[in-house]
Amino acid sequence: MLRDEFEWIKSIIPSHSHQKNLLMGIGDDAAIWSVDEDMDQVVCVDTMVEGVHFTRDTLSPAQIGHKALAVNLSDIAAMGAIPQFYLVSIAISPECTEEELHDLYEGMRKLADLYKTDLIGGDTVSTKGPLVLTVTVIGKVEKGKSLYRKNAEPDDVVFLTGITGESAAGLQLLLSKTRQYSFNEAETSLTSQHQMPQPHIKQGRLLAKSGFRTALNDVSDGIASELNEIAEASDVTIHIDEEKLPISSILKSLSKNERLTYQLYGGEDYVLVGTMAEKDFNQVVSEFDKSFLPLYKIGRVTERGETAVLINQEPLTKKGFNHFRER
Ligand code: ADP
Ligand code: MG
Repeated sequence: MLRDEFEWIKSIIPSHSHQKNLLMGIGDDAAIWSVDEDMDQVVCVDTMVEGVHFTRDTLSPAQIGHKALAVNLSDIAAMGAIPQFYLVSIAISPECTEEELHDLYEGMRKLADLYKTDLIGGDTVSTKGPLVLTVTVIGKVEKGKSLYRKNAEPDDVVFLTGITGESAAGLQLLLSKTRQYSFNEAETSLTSQHQMPQPHIKQGRLLAKSGFRTALNDVSDGIASELNEIAEASDVTIHIDEEKLPISSILKSLSKNERLTYQLYGGEDYVLVGTMAEKDFNQVVSEFDKSFLPLYKIGRVTERGETAVLINQEPLTKKGFNHFRER
């Protein structure tokens, strides 16, 4: 059994690439290669497994479909790219009905329609095990505009495109009561955040189109983990100001410890976290304002050469979800 997902991935990175036009292979939210003078091609893949990422009690079939595509669109957003096509590989378990599969594909289609993204292929197999759904998304980005994790520099501000913590709090509710429970309005907004995350494609595009140097990552495993990935890729120290972290109005009633655990380690928020120079940030904030989108300043990048993330001067480690540690 592998102990650490991140360490294992590092060990499989090829020592060289055959293709000269490869711009980013393993190590970011998506791979990128150049195809012509104007655009670069972007591709990413993510898998959802019943019993690991969802159960029949936490997500409906339509929500499984929505989420499997949404998490990939979120990786496309984290590169600043535009999604175009998707492929779906599905391992169908014996309990799955035709109606459920129909709903699952409808969940994907409705989200794909919002982004003019076309289903162009996939694969269908049967399994005696749990349902496994793998989605691949292909997109494009203007040459030189993609937003890599390795782009952070000292004196950058650290920003978030949305609040974190609601998805994890919603998951707790679903695990304790199941999705059949009659949740009140506040609880429903938490559970919806977990079940139907909305990828921040528009935010990623605003950042890419600004043309400013930006480091960017999407929040799948919690901001503690994602900020450590930016710090590692850029070899910098990142300071987070706990007071500046945006707080969900629904989570305000929790104890500070419980709330901060959700905000920092919860994950599955699918907002974007990144860094850019302060003068550029101020311009981008007004672009976001015009689109009624929030952009929160939550910290600062300090020196290069020391890879670390600190919150109130204390180390913030990658305690988010790691596939080989938590089982
Ligand atoms: P994300 O959370 O953004 O989806 P991951 O942490 O899953 O990214 O993956 C980090 C990097 O490792 C990505 O570049 C991804 O494509 C690559 N990667 C993950 N698993 C594998 C694998 N089994 N084989 C090859 N590359 C992988
Ligand atoms: Mg990602």
